[in-house]
Formats: sequence, C-alpha cells, structure tokens
Amino acid sequence: MPKQFRDFEVYLVHVDPDLCDGCEDCIKLCPAEVFDFSVKAYPTRPQNCLGCRTCEAVCKSKAVIITEI
Ligand code: SF4
Ligand code: SF4
Repeated sequence: MPKQFRDFEVYLVHVDPDLCDGCEDCIKLCPAEVFDFSVKAYPTRPQNCLGCRTCEAVCKSKAVIITEI
C-alpha cells in the first residue's frame, strides 16, 4: 500500500551478518522483540518494529539498518 494512503509506518529491518559480531545488544534493547539470535542477530519479527532506531544506535558494528518504507 503506498505510504500516502496508510496511517501506520512500516519498517524494513536488516542485519548484515558479515558485520554482526553477535554482541546481542540489539536483542536486549529492542522494545518490540524483533530480533532472535543464533550466532548472529536475525530480525525474525520485523513486523513488530516501532522505528525507534535503538538497535542502530547501540550496534557498534553498524550491522543494523532500519528503513522506513
Ligand atoms: S547490536 Fe549489532 S553486532 Fe550486536 S548482535 Fe545486534 S546486529 Fe549484531
Ligand atoms: S528500530 Fe526499535 S523496534 Fe525496530 S528493531 Fe530497532 S530497536 Fe527494535
């Protein structure tokens, strides 16, 4: 649905597995439980994303990218 016809935001949550060092900070601090963990972080519930960008801020490896679509 085009953005101008929605009254809610949709976010893409991407984790670059080559950059993720597995620190788990994004998993601990995401308020919406978007991530699961198996060696690397993985966004298993991206539909929950609130767009707060906490994960981007805490990721020292710059492995997380949040994109509003
Ligand atoms: S904060 Fe970054 S480096 Fe740490 S687990 Fe999450 S994506 Fe990986
Ligand atoms: S932007 Fe916020 S809600 Fe979305 S995945 Fe990151 S920490 Fe979780």
